Amino acid sequence: MNFLDLNITQRIIDALIANGYTEPTEIQQKAIPIILDRKDLLASAQTGTGKTAAFAIPMLQLLTQKKKPKGQRKVRGLIISPTRELAQQIYESYITYGKFLNLKVGVIYGGVSQKRQEKFLRSGVDIIISTPGRLMDLMEQGLVDVSNVEMLVLDEADRLLDMGFIHDIKVIVKPIKTERQTLLFSATLPKSVLDIAKELMDNPVRIAAAKVSSPVEAIEQSLYYVDPDNKKRLLVDLIKTELNDTILVFARTKNNTEQIVTYLEKNDITARAIHGDKSQNKRIKVLRDFKNYQFQVLVATDVASRGIDIDSLACVINYNIPEEAETYIHRIGRTARAGLEGRAIAFCDYGERGLLKDIEKLMELQIPVIEEHEYPMIDETVTPPRSGGGGKRRSSNKKNTGKRNNRSRRAGGGRGGKRKR
Ligand code: AMP
Repeated sequence: MNFLDLNITQRIIDALIANGYTEPTEIQQKAIPIILDRKDLLASAQTGTGKTAAFAIPMLQLLTQKKKPKGQRKVRGLIISPTRELAQQIYESYITYGKFLNLKVGVIYGGVSQKRQEKFLRSGVDIIISTPGRLMDLMEQGLVDVSNVEMLVLDEADRLLDMGFIHDIKVIVKPIKTERQTLLFSATLPKSVLDIAKELMDNPVRIAAAKVSSPVEAIEQSLYYVDPDNKKRLLVDLIKTELNDTILVFARTKNNTEQIVTYLEKNDITARAIHGDKSQNKRIKVLRDFKNYQFQVLVATDVASRGIDIDSLACVINYNIPEEAETYIHRIGRTARAGLEGRAIAFCDYGERGLLKDIEKLMELQIPVIEEHEYPMIDETVTPPRSGGGGKRRSSNKKNTGKRNNRSRRAGGGRGGKRKR
């Protein structure tokens, strides 16, 4: 099936082709005809399935075809997103898919000055993507009028509710006319989501997209045992010898991110940091530059990485092993998106082995270990003297060789070996 079979107009298809989309994903094949048929839709789909385009494409098409109200542009499409990062990403998707259309799109979220948002609101927009808090503020100030909204999307509805936005959503939706078309997308469908669907939607069609394959299956993982002081050297070595594509490095603290960037730059590797202390605008700019290949390595903390969605991210490096096993899975899930290949590398020092065990338990597999490298871990434990002799320092790499070989084999052996992309 292609986009023409879904009755998508040529101007949108041209934009999709320019963006490298050749055929619709499963959720797009299911959702687009229902939305174009102007029905309400309740879709369960995770991030990574192409759900954004599943509602953005038909919304752009319908709002282009529908008669515009007279006078200044009025908000006719509204998308509510739980986070600023997701709102920004949805906005960028709308700009991409709608680049040959005459529709104005704006994004609204907190944490940045209101001025720019005020400006585009005053000059008129057709579609707004927004987080709930700032939208309510602007509505209260009389700067946004949602009474002309014809199409409403609640994206990641389960997260919206988990984050406590139920009240805000009800306030926002109240002035919107009931003849609107309502679309709800959610990774999971707990009772709370079904309840809000019942309240806001009119006899919705229900669809589901198959889960995206778990990162564990789709990503080539490998593990290096290395001392903390040598992590930066190992990182530079890997980048110079085998990782020539874009890389996302996760570090524990904002100081770590800055230190790693400084070290990489000293070694002629282009890198930037992203962490919670950077303003929203700066983070967005860094992300945009990264997506546009302006530099090779992005070094991020977990908080700042929320919502990072880069199609062609070749490799994720866990510079430290995260405290929560789920965080590891979340981190490596940034690569191998949209069906592409991906690689995840973890640096584990002596003190992090317990955390690593938790991760392997959660994934139910052991990450293949790369033994051949310049910076094998030195076991700092000093063996207590039994009969007068001193303690000794030993290389744990040597000591554990047999065991790790077993681990590698059990985890699928060769996949973890060094290779060039
Ligand atoms: P989403 O689930 O909306 O976060 O999308 C996941 C990724 O898939 C995004 O990076 C999109 O750019 C990409 N994508 C969405 N639809 C398509 C398509 N039809 N063909 C190729 N990539 C797509």
